[in-house]
Amino acid sequence: IASKSQEYIELENEHGAHNYHPLPVVLDRGDGVYVWDVEGKRYYDFLSAYSAVNQGHCHPAIVNAMNEQAQTLTLTSRAFHNDKLGVYEKYMTDYFDFDKVLPMNTGAEAVETAIKIARKWAYEKKGVPEHQAQIIVAENNFHGRTTTIISFSNDEGARKNFGPYTPGFIKVAYDDVDALENALKQENVAGFLIEPIQGEAGVYTPDDNYMREARELCKKYEALFIADEIQTGIARTGALLAVCGKCTCQGHCERQQTYARPDILILGKALSGGAYPVSAVLADNDIMNVIKPGQHGSTFGGNPVAAAVAMAALDVVRDESLAQNARKLGEHFRKRINEYISTTDTVTLVRGRGLLNAIVVNDSETSDTAWNICLRLRDHGLLAKPTHGNIIRFAPPLVMTMEQLDECIDIIIKTLKEF
Ligand code: PLP
Repeated sequence: IASKSQEYIELENEHGAHNYHPLPVVLDRGDGVYVWDVEGKRYYDFLSAYSAVNQGHCHPAIVNAMNEQAQTLTLTSRAFHNDKLGVYEKYMTDYFDFDKVLPMNTGAEAVETAIKIARKWAYEKKGVPEHQAQIIVAENNFHGRTTTIISFSNDEGARKNFGPYTPGFIKVAYDDVDALENALKQENVAGFLIEPIQGEAGVYTPDDNYMREARELCKKYEALFIADEIQTGIARTGALLAVCGKCTCQGHCERQQTYARPDILILGKALSGGAYPVSAVLADNDIMNVIKPGQHGSTFGGNPVAAAVAMAALDVVRDESLAQNARKLGEHFRKRINEYISTTDTVTLVRGRGLLNAIVVNDSETSDTAWNICLRLRDHGLLAKPTHGNIIRFAPPLVMTMEQLDECIDIIIKTLKEF
């Protein structure tokens, strides 16, 4: 590590809480699919800030929208109206085809919001007795870091010594329709909260029919189908939403057969292209209208800068056909990595959809091989990070070209051959 980088790392170590374990690289600039470190070395970004930078670093249209709004009006709070919020809400509800949106800032806040809406809906619409509402979640889920959300995590590190935990959650195996149906048969179920692909758990990609069958089961048992698309949404998996299945509508969903339409849709991350914290919860009136003035909110949620940034970020997704590009590049990525896997013992499999992919390294989950591979990838000019143990996630910005992707695959294969 060069001394300038080391200085910045030491500053963080000395003065920041140690709640992350970053790869040792210190970045000071980003442009499209590239980032640069403080020594001037260029890297391909293969994490995209956990899929927040789908539109590429510092996309000019997003940065311009942010600058313009920042010079005009940044925050009114919701105590007053402003000229951006309603425009943004109309834009969002048209784009994703829901009646209403509730704007928040971070992913975890949006998940909390969805949980609150689902519980309130259960009491006021479904007739669940007070304090009895249950929400079904999947094993190995990742929905954020708040006290309630970690209450239904089964990651020891995320949970241990943070109790007492919030009750009211039932855990079922992921990608298991029978387990879901059994849980739905229990009394007082408000909803089923699910990631269409489990990103943090290691890009676990369920059966093609799982989302649609889960959607149907929720309907059958009168429970809300709640999709957490914070990581999978906004073109990442080769469709506007992962629940869109094979649809390439770019936000004009025709409700075609593969669409597992959620009752509550949760978005974050790439909703701003990584420029600003923006999250959102979408639902139709019969669900969203359970929330009345004073019952939920956030000082910054839906502020004018967030509104301007999100509209610009979603324009980019549509104008640059990012879902189609992610689909095409993702297929090429898995094809080439699979060809390599057939010749080696270093990697056991590649999985994913669109440009949300992961490889499983042929070593135990407690070994540091995946970490060491990421360090070597860094040396070769590509930044990626293990998710869990022996799994490395590969999620570049969706503005990548086929030529750039081929160069990246060359780097990845060359690096893996060194192990
Ligand atoms: N839900 C999913 C599926 C995520 O991947 C994440 C973040 O990685 C979150 C929720 C939490 O988002 P945030 O970190 O913005 O709170």
